[in-house]
Amino acid sequence: MNRKKTGKGQLIVLSGPSGVGKSTVIAELMSQRELFFSVSFTTREPRSGEVDGKNYYFITREEFEGMIARGELLEYTQYQQNYYGTSEKLLQEKLDAGIDVLLDIEVEGGENVRKKRPDAISIFMIPPSFEELSRRLHARNTDKEEVIQGRLARAREEYKEIPKYDYLVINDRVSNAVTEIEAILAAAECRVAKRIHIIEGDNAL
Ligand code: ADP
Ligand code: 5GP
Repeated sequence: MNRKKTGKGQLIVLSGPSGVGKSTVIAELMSQRELFFSVSFTTREPRSGEVDGKNYYFITREEFEGMIARGELLEYTQYQQNYYGTSEKLLQEKLDAGIDVLLDIEVEGGENVRKKRPDAISIFMIPPSFEELSRRLHARNTDKEEVIQGRLARAREEYKEIPKYDYLVINDRVSNAVTEIEAILAAAECRVAKRIHIIEGDNAL
């Protein structure tokens, strides 16, 4: 039986302060299971090592505002003077094909996705401490000090949104965070609502 052929993919929202390790954990997760990472559109400058079409689609403000006007975005936000947004079409194609889709988005986007897609699973990732978050932002060595301070201040605001999320994962070690997310996804896959097609219809067990 191929469950993926009949079931829809699971939409997963992952939020957490910049520098907590979301990209690192996502990369590890993707090496272990089939998962489509929803590549966002952004107007921010690429960091060194970032690849257009892999980390983000890097576009101009005019192009981004065109996508807003045409209603192409499931959600979008302005973060530190830049636009970030999720294409609805790309994501829906994968979900319809039975593939799980993961969004790495901040809390306002998380809220908007929860409203539009109540079946999405939302996970918030935190570091073991704010000192460690600051250390990771500095260690990444990609942002100026004032940008880092802005991201740390924003992190404290974002923490207020944690109660709205379904799950809280602590990224102390990457392997622990990956194990916790794997457990969340495994449980979600066993929900009756996700498996009802197995016992109903012509191909019922
Ligand atoms: P985000 O995507 O949340 O902004 P990154 O994945 O870019 O964060 O990680 C920020 C920095 O922290 C990177 O230098 C990364 O190697 C490091 N990092 C990520 N997870 C951990 C961890 N569990 N322990 C120590 N350092 C980590
Ligand atoms: P960064 O500049 O560090 O890559 O991302 C900054 C913040 O923007 C992160 O919290 C990240 O999760 C969020 N982000 C990335 N893509 C999107 C998106 O498409 N929509 C929203 N709402 N947030 C996003």
